[in-house]
Amino acid sequence: MTERDIEESLPDKEKNLSEWYSMVLEKAEIVDIRYGVKGFIVYMPYGMEIMKNIIRLFESELEKTGHRPVLFPVVIPESNLRKEEEHVKGFAGQVFWITHAGYSKLEEKLALRPTSETAMYPIYSLWIKSYKDLPLKAYQTVAVYRYETKATRPLLRGREFLWIEAHNVFRSREEAYKQTLEDADIFKRVSYEKLGIPFIHVKREEFDKFPGAEDTFAFDTLMPDGRVLQIGTTHYLGTKFSKVFDIKFHDVDGKYRYGHQTCYGIGLSRILASLIMIHGDSYGMVLPFDIAPLQIIIIPIPKTGYDLNKIFEYCDDIQRELIDKGYKVKVDKSEKTPGEKYYYYDMRGIPIRIEVGPFEVDNRRVTLFRRDLRMRVTIPREDLFNKIERLRVDITENLRRKAEDKIKNTIKYVSNLDELKKYSEEGFSIFKVHFCGNEECAERIKNETGGFEVRGSGVSEDGFNGECIMCGKETSKIVYLAKAY
Ligand SMILES: [Zn+2]
Repeated sequence: MTERDIEESLPDKEKNLSEWYSMVLEKAEIVDIRYGVKGFIVYMPYGMEIMKNIIRLFESELEKTGHRPVLFPVVIPESNLRKEEEHVKGFAGQVFWITHAGYSKLEEKLALRPTSETAMYPIYSLWIKSYKDLPLKAYQTVAVYRYETKATRPLLRGREFLWIEAHNVFRSREEAYKQTLEDADIFKRVSYEKLGIPFIHVKREEFDKFPGAEDTFAFDTLMPDGRVLQIGTTHYLGTKFSKVFDIKFHDVDGKYRYGHQTCYGIGLSRILASLIMIHGDSYGMVLPFDIAPLQIIIIPIPKTGYDLNKIFEYCDDIQRELIDKGYKVKVDKSEKTPGEKYYYYDMRGIPIRIEVGPFEVDNRRVTLFRRDLRMRVTIPREDLFNKIERLRVDITENLRRKAEDKIKNTIKYVSNLDELKKYSEEGFSIFKVHFCGNEECAERIKNETGGFEVRGSGVSEDGFNGECIMCGKETSKIVYLAKAY
C-alpha cells in the first residue's frame, strides 16, 4: 500500500461529509450498524473505549460539583408518564411501549424511558422531607429510547442513545438557576477544554423549550457542513414537576414548600459523533490526547541486515518509561508493514506515533509523529518525556483552536433576509438577527431561508435595539439562526 492509495481510501470530508463519516465509523471500528433494528446500533470495543473515557470526564466533573450516581429502572408506568401534561404531550409520539409480558397483557402499559423525570420524581418525593435533605443532586449514565420518525443516523439520531442525565432539587429559584450555569461550566470544562469541541450557549425560545420546562438552555456545536448539532441541554423546571409529583419539603420557618428543579442532559452519542466529524481528516479520526484509549503507538521499522531484536529492545525500553509516566502506550511488533501500521493507527486517531529504526537506535534518538498536524520530528532519546508532555497539551489546544476559529468565522449579524442570503452564499452558516420572539416569525424565517432555524439567544451576550428580521417589530432580542441536525 502506498501513501497515495491510503490517502484516497476515504472520500473528501469537505465535499462528502456523510460518506466520509460512514466510512470512518466502519474503518476505525467505532460502531456496527448491521444490528437490523432501525435506529439501534452496536458500539464496537474501540468506540466504547472512547465513549467510556468521555463518560469518565463528565462523571468526574459532576461528582466534583456534588452530584451522586443513581440508577433508575428503564420502565416507567404509563400513569406516571402522563402526570405532567406538557411533558407527555411533548413525548407522546416518541414512546416505545411494553404491552405484554410472557403470555399475558400487562394491566398497565410500561414505557421505555424517553427521559427520566417521571421515573425519578415519584421517588424523589419519598426521599425529600426537610430543607436538610436539599439540595439533592443526582445523575445517571444510561440509554434512552425515542421512536424517532425522522431519518436515523448512527450516533447523530438514534432510537436508542447514550446520555448522562442529572436531576436536581433546590430550595429556591436562585439556587436552581445557579445550577444551570454550573451545568454550562461543566460542559465547558469537558467538551471545550478536554475534547476540543466548542459550542454556542443559548437560551431556547419559549416555543422551543423542553416539554414541561420553564427555561431551556442548550449547547449547540458546529459540524463541518455548516449545520449545528445540539449536544447538551439544561432546563430550569421551576416547581411544575414538584407540584405534580409532590416533591415538597419542610422549610426552616415550618412551612411546606415545593422544590425548584433542574435537569441536565449530556448527549454522549452526539458528542462522540462531533468528536469524529469536527477533528477528523482525510486519514480518519484525530483524537485529543486525554481521551485517546491508546495515546502513543511505537512502530519498529525493520531494515534488512540490521538486528531486529535491537530495535525491539529499544522500543520496549521506550514503552517502559512511558508507561511508568502514566501514558497509554503500545509497541506494535506484528508482521504488518510500517505503512499498514501507520494507516491503521492514523485511521483510529492515535495522537502520537513513535518510529524506531536503525538510525534511532544507533544515535539514541526518537522520531515522533503528531497525528493532528501530521508532522515528524527527531529528538534525542532523553528529551522524549518532556516533548510528550508538551505535545499532550499542544495537540488538544490545536484541535480546539481550529474548531473554535471555524465557529467564530462563520457567525455574521444580518439585518434583513437579502443579506442573509448573500452571506450564506459566501459560506457563512450561523447568523445573528433581531427577532420578536413570535413562533410564526420563526416558521416564516425557516420557510423563506431554506431551513434556517431560530436556535435561541446567546446566554450573557449583550443585545441592542433593532427590528425583527421578519415582521419589523422593535426588539432588543438577538437570536442565532442556523440549519440544524
Ligand atoms: Zn417578528
